[in-house]
Amino acid sequence: MSSGKINVAVENIFPLIKKFLYSDHEIFLRELISNATDATLKLKHLTNIGEAKVEYGNPKIEIKVDKKNKTLHVIDQGLGMTSDEVNKYINEVAFSGAEEFINQYKDSAKDSGIIGHFGLGFYSAFMVAEKVEIITKSHTEAPACYWSCDGSPEYSLVKHDKTTHGTEIILHIDKDSDEFLEETRIKSLLTKYNKFMPIPIKFGTKEETQEEGEGEDKKEIKKTVDNIINNPNPAWTKKPSNLKDEEYKSFYRELYPMQFEEPLFHIHLNVDYPFNLTGILYFPKLNNDINIQKDRIQLYQNQVFVTDNVEGIVPEFLTMLRGIIDSPDIPLNVSRSYLQSDGAVKKISNYITKKVADKLQSIFKKDRKNLEQKWNDIKVVIEYGMLSEDKFFDKAKKFNLFPTTTGSYLTIDELKLQTKDAQTDKDGKLIQLYAANVDEQHPYIEAAKVKGYTVLLLDSPIVGHLLQKLEQEDDKIGFVRVDSDHIDKLIAKDEPQICKLSDEQKEALKPMIENVVPKEQYTVQLEVMNSEAAPFMITQPEFMRRMKEMQQTGGGGMFSGGFPDMYQLVVNVNHPLVSQILETKTKKKKERLIKQSLDLARLSQSLLKGEELTAFIQRSYEMIK
Ligand code: ADP
Ligand code: MG
Repeated sequence: MSSGKINVAVENIFPLIKKFLYSDHEIFLRELISNATDATLKLKHLTNIGEAKVEYGNPKIEIKVDKKNKTLHVIDQGLGMTSDEVNKYINEVAFSGAEEFINQYKDSAKDSGIIGHFGLGFYSAFMVAEKVEIITKSHTEAPACYWSCDGSPEYSLVKHDKTTHGTEIILHIDKDSDEFLEETRIKSLLTKYNKFMPIPIKFGTKEETQEEGEGEDKKEIKKTVDNIINNPNPAWTKKPSNLKDEEYKSFYRELYPMQFEEPLFHIHLNVDYPFNLTGILYFPKLNNDINIQKDRIQLYQNQVFVTDNVEGIVPEFLTMLRGIIDSPDIPLNVSRSYLQSDGAVKKISNYITKKVADKLQSIFKKDRKNLEQKWNDIKVVIEYGMLSEDKFFDKAKKFNLFPTTTGSYLTIDELKLQTKDAQTDKDGKLIQLYAANVDEQHPYIEAAKVKGYTVLLLDSPIVGHLLQKLEQEDDKIGFVRVDSDHIDKLIAKDEPQICKLSDEQKEALKPMIENVVPKEQYTVQLEVMNSEAAPFMITQPEFMRRMKEMQQTGGGGMFSGGFPDMYQLVVNVNHPLVSQILETKTKKKKERLIKQSLDLARLSQSLLKGEELTAFIQRSYEMIK
C-alpha cells in the first residue's frame, strides 16, 4: 500500500477553467473590478495603519475599451504587486491573496470590505481573452513588472518601467467574445454588477456644464469630466440614524429607475453578529397581487452585485418586497437546495423575518393611522407571512388589521373585546361576520347592520387560509361570511320566533317550492324569521365556499375533486309573500310567483346570468306593463 499526493497537470486544468469556471462568462469583469477594489482597499488599510508610505489620495478604477487593438483595460491605483507577489498570487492558481491578507491583518481588516475569497477570480479573464497582460508596480520601493500569458500554462515575467503604484490588467479579447469590446455591453455590465461598489469607477468621459466667475462675468462653460458609473456610498452602507426618509426614497429610485410609484415603508437591516448583514427592504404597493416575482430583491456581497435570485435566503413571503441585501456570509458556491438547510442561512432568514415583523409592530404602535392607510396595499404579504412562518404569525397577530365595512380597522384582540357580548352564539363563541365585496353582498351586509353587527371587509385572495388558521388557534372565534346563512341563524342567539304558518301549511310549502327550483343547485330551507326580512334568500355554507376558495389558491386539502356549486334557498315563512304564495289558487300562478322570487334572490347574489337573466327582465316588463 502507499499514500501520496494526486498530481494535477496544469495543462489539463487550464482549458477547464476557461470553459467551466463560471457558467456566466460576463462575470469576468466583476471579478477583475473586485480585485482592483480589493487592491485599493488594501492600500487604504495599509496607509491607515502606517504600513504603506505612499499617499492614498482619491483613487479610482478605470475601465477602457480599445476597439482597434481589441483590448479591454482594468486600471487601478491600489497597492500593486512586486514580481515575487505576482509569482505567489498570480502564478499559483487557487491561492487567494485576499484570504491571506484578511488572515494577516485579522482584527483590523475584518471590516475592510475585501471581496476576494477563492483565488480563482483572476483566471476568469481567460474565459473571454486569448491573452492577458499585467503591468503592476507595488507601493513599496520594488520595481514594476510585466506579466503575460496567452492561455497556455507558460507565462513570462519581466521588469517594466511603470513608476506609479497600481495595476493595469489588459485583456486581448477572444474573437468569439468580441461583444465585450462594445461600449454599451460593458456599460450595462458595469451598471449590473458594479453600481454600488466602494471605489469610484470611471468609464469614459462626459460633458458637464459648470458656472464660472461672479456677477457680470458669470458664464456657463462646458467641461469634460470623468464619467463615474457607480455610487460608492449607497444608502444601505450608512447608519440608519443618519438617513432621512427622503434619502431612502431616492435610493429606491436609484435601484428601480423605471418604477414610478413610491415605496410604502422601508426596513433597514443592520447586524454584524453572529453574521454580517446590511440592506434595505421596501414594501411596494401590492394590492391583492400574490403572483410573486422572485427577482425584485438584489443580493450583494461587499457592495458587489451577486444575484437577483434570493430564493432560499429570504423567506418566500418576503420575496414580494423589493430592495437589497448585502452579506459576505452567504455561501453561494453551493446549490440552492443546500442553501436552505444551511444553518447560517437559516439564521439570516429568521433575522430578516424578525426585523420585518418588528418594523410593522413599531409602525402599528407609533403611527397606526399610517399602517391603516396602507393596509390594503401590504396585507397580502402579511397574510402570506402569517400562513407560512409560525414566528411571524405570533408577532403579526398583534398588528394584523381587519378592515370593517364602515372603514375602521381592528386587531383580533379588539374584535374580541368589541363584540364580546353582542356577536356571540349560544356557547359564547364570537361569530365574526365578514364580507368579500361590499357591492355584491350589499343586502346581506345591510341585514347585519340592522342588527348592529360588525362586518369585516376581507377581500384578499388568501384570507380564507388565514381565517382557517386563526380558528384552529382559538376555538372561541369563528368567521362566517354574511351570505353563508341568514343572519339570525349565523349568530343564533335570538329566541325562536313565532311561526305564522301551521305545520300543515309548512309541509305543503316545501314541495311546492322544490318543484320550481333546480334541485341540483339549491336545497330549500324553511326558516322562521322576521316578517321584514327578505322572503327568499340564497346562501352558501361558509365551510363549502371557503374550501372552494382555498382550493383555488392552493391547499384546502382533502377535497381534490373540486366542489359543486351548491346553494341554499332560504325561505322566510313569516313573510307575507310566502302566505300569498300559499293562498294563490292556480298552480301556474303559484309557480310564477315562486320563479320570480327565486330569480330576485339570485339577482341579489349575482347568480342570475345569460338566458335566464334575459327571460327574467322580459318577464318583469310584462308584469308592469
Ligand atoms: P482572490 O481575489 O479570491 O484572492 P483572484 O484570483 O481574484 O483571487 O486574485 C488572486 C490574487 O492576485 C489576489 O488575491 C491578489 O493578491 C492578486 N491580485 C489580483 N488582481 C490584483 C490587482 N489588481 N492588484 C493587486 N493584486 C492583485
Ligand atoms: Mg478576486
